[in-house]
Amino acid sequence: MAADDPLPPDRPVLRKTAAGGGGLSVRDLRVSYGPVQALRGVSLEVPRGSVVAVLGSNGAGKSTLLRAISGTLRFHRGSITSGGVEYADGPLSGLDASAVVARGVTQVPEGRRVFGRMTVAENLRAGTLGVRGRKAAAAAREHVLELFPVLAERAGQRAGLLSGGEQQMLAIGRALMAGPQVLLLDEPTLGLAPLMAERIADTVRKINSEGTTVLLVEQNAAMALSLASHAYVLEVGEVVMSGPAGELAASDEVRRRYLGESDEELTAEDAGDGEAPARLVLTRWSA
Ligand code: ATP
Repeated sequence: MAADDPLPPDRPVLRKTAAGGGGLSVRDLRVSYGPVQALRGVSLEVPRGSVVAVLGSNGAGKSTLLRAISGTLRFHRGSITSGGVEYADGPLSGLDASAVVARGVTQVPEGRRVFGRMTVAENLRAGTLGVRGRKAAAAAREHVLELFPVLAERAGQRAGLLSGGEQQMLAIGRALMAGPQVLLLDEPTLGLAPLMAERIADTVRKINSEGTTVLLVEQNAAMALSLASHAYVLEVGEVVMSGPAGELAASDEVRRRYLGESDEELTAEDAGDGEAPARLVLTRWSA
């Protein structure tokens, strides 16, 4: 099946993820940009301390989901038409972007948006504006420079002159300056060479191991599924599959559509002498 073929209408899907008490909850979220309905009733759970991935092809609604969580939809002329977002058992939807940051949820937008004319140090300082006191900002800076030593080496350099990978590090570093409890990452490895993508993935693991919850939106399904404990697949504004990342990674449909494996490869594996791949117990999606 080609990557852009429609999914069968009554396709099976995996189990819904268990709710994560005190984590981030998206409930039946509908979002429109004027006449364009970008999300059509999306529900998902990001338990505290987890890495959760959202996979999907171009236009599936991944960035829209993160914008709705981070309060930045209005900058794109979008709005939530129903449903909502909660974090730590309080509503996030309705808050503006700076209030969402103050609640501990920070987004790293797609496309490594750094202030190109500002230095690396100034970009990092911008991440703390209106959020924290001096002492906390200094501690956050130290932590970021420990994670990304190259940013210390380039502190006085204009951000626009950094490589793509370094700009991504700076974008993540700037978000971390706010000391988030939840980090929203929009395609952090997009356009990066495999080695750099792996470094970014390692950093995400480290950030999570230090206690930060991560919601990761990715087209790079292999990378995302290697990082996440749970994943959701979004198609045309709807969740069509969800489940433990390992189970999704073993599903033929995900392997065909998102991991680039051909029907021949999947059939050959099924017919081989080796150990059979894990098989899923599929249940129909009933949100
Ligand atoms: P990509 O990986 O290409 O960024 P995505 O999964 O992040 O895709 P979105 O960018 O969230 O998808 O887009 C979801 C839908 O909303 C698409 O149909 C897109 O064309 C539409 N859309 C996104 N931003 C806007 C906007 N500012 N105005 C109008 N429509 C938009």
